[in-house]
Amino acid sequence: MSRPIVIKNASLYGDTTASLLIEDGVITAVGDVETPDDAVVVEADGLVALPGLVDLHTHLREPGREDAETIETGSRAAARGGWTAVHAMANTNPVADTAGVVEQVYSRGQEIGLCDVFPVGAVTVGLKGEHLSEMGAMASSKARVRLFSDDGVCVYDPVIMRRALEYVKTFDGAVVQHAQDLRLTEGAQMHEGEVSAELGLAGWPAVAEESIVARDALLAEHVGSRVHVQHLSTAGSVEIVRWAKDRAIQVTAEATPHHLLLTDESARTYDPLFKVNPPLRTQADVDALRQAVADGTIDIIATDHAPHASEDKDCEWASASFGMLGLETALGVIQKVLVDTGACTWRDVARLMSEAPARIGQVDDRHGRPLAEGEPANITLVDPNAAWTVEADQLASRARNTPYGGIELPGRAVATFLRGVPTHVDPTLEGAFA
Ligand SMILES: [Zn+2]
Repeated sequence: MSRPIVIKNASLYGDTTASLLIEDGVITAVGDVETPDDAVVVEADGLVALPGLVDLHTHLREPGREDAETIETGSRAAARGGWTAVHAMANTNPVADTAGVVEQVYSRGQEIGLCDVFPVGAVTVGLKGEHLSEMGAMASSKARVRLFSDDGVCVYDPVIMRRALEYVKTFDGAVVQHAQDLRLTEGAQMHEGEVSAELGLAGWPAVAEESIVARDALLAEHVGSRVHVQHLSTAGSVEIVRWAKDRAIQVTAEATPHHLLLTDESARTYDPLFKVNPPLRTQADVDALRQAVADGTIDIIATDHAPHASEDKDCEWASASFGMLGLETALGVIQKVLVDTGACTWRDVARLMSEAPARIGQVDDRHGRPLAEGEPANITLVDPNAAWTVEADQLASRARNTPYGGIELPGRAVATFLRGVPTHVDPTLEGAFA
C-alpha cells in the first residue's frame, strides 16, 4: 500500500480551490479534506489541477526506430508533459496491423507504467492502402483497439476508406484520417503560397487536405460511421468540418499546438525543425484554427509528437523527414496561444486535452474523468506561472527535433499522477515526496 497523497488547495480546472485526497490510486475526497498522518502533502496553491492529459496522436517509434524514440522514453516525455495516456500511431516497423503488434505495444506501456499507451491499429496492411488490416482481431485483442489510422500516409482509395468506415461500426470504432491527397502533394516540401514561391520550394496546397476532409465527411455520412480528422491545418478544412457537424455527420477533428502557433514564415530559416506534415500554414489559417478550437468546431488538441533521429533532421530541408516533437511542450504552447490570449479557459483545456480525446479514443472509462470522489487519480498539476525556456537537450524524449528551442513558454506540468502514482514531479515539488 502506497502512502496517501493530499494535493492541497489546488485550483480545480482553474476555477474552484479545493484539496484532493488520493488513496490506492483513487480520488477519495475532494474539498476541505482531512490529511491522514502518513500522507504526502503537495502544497498546490497557485497550481491548476486538470484530469490527466490524453494524447490521441503520438509516435513512439517502437518497434523499429528505437534510435528515435522508445515506448519508455516517449512515456517519460509524456509524463513530463502532463499526459497520462497516449495513443500510439501504427507507422512502426513492423507496422501495427496485427493483434500481435498492438498487444506488444500495449503491454510494453503497462510494464513501463509512466502512462497508458493505447495502440492505434493500421487501417491497411503495411500502410500500403490496398487491403484492410485485421481490424477485428486488433479490436478484440487485449489492446482493445478502437481507432484505426494509416497516419503518415492518407487512406487514399475511397473504396478502402468506405470499407474501413463500415468495418469499424461493428465495434463502434473510428477511422482516423491523415488527410492528404497524394497526387496533389507529390514532392511537396511546404505550404503552397507566397513563401514557397519566394523560397523555390515545392508547394503543398491547402486543397490537398481539404478535398480529402470533404470526401471523408461525405463517406462517413453515407456509411453512417465515425471519422476523426487528424492535424487540421487550413481555414478551409475548418469550414468543411463546421459544415459536416451542422449536418450531424459523425466527424471529429484535432489541431496540433504547432499549427496553432507557427506559420510558413518559419521556412525562411531553411531549418528542417520546421518541416512537418501537414505543413505550417499562413497566419490566416492559424487564426481560423484558433477560432475553431475556441468555438468547438475542432474537438481536441493532439500533439502529433514525431521524434526523429538526428541524421533525419540534421540535413538539408529537402531531404529531412517531416515531423516535430510535441509531448513536453504542448501544454505550454496551448497556454500561450489559447489561455493567456483569453480564447479558452483551463476548463476548456481539460475538455480539449483530456475529456474529449478520452471519449473519441473510447478510454473514457479510465481517462478524462472528473476530478471527483471515486474517480481514478489521473491528475495533472499545471503551474501557469512557471515560465521556462525550451532546451532541446533537456527533453526526456530520445529525439531532439523540437521547433521551440530557445523559446519561452509561460507554464508547464509540475506533477503528473497515473492512478495515484506520481509519474512526473518537478524539482520544485520534490520535497513533498522525499
Ligand atoms: Zn499525420
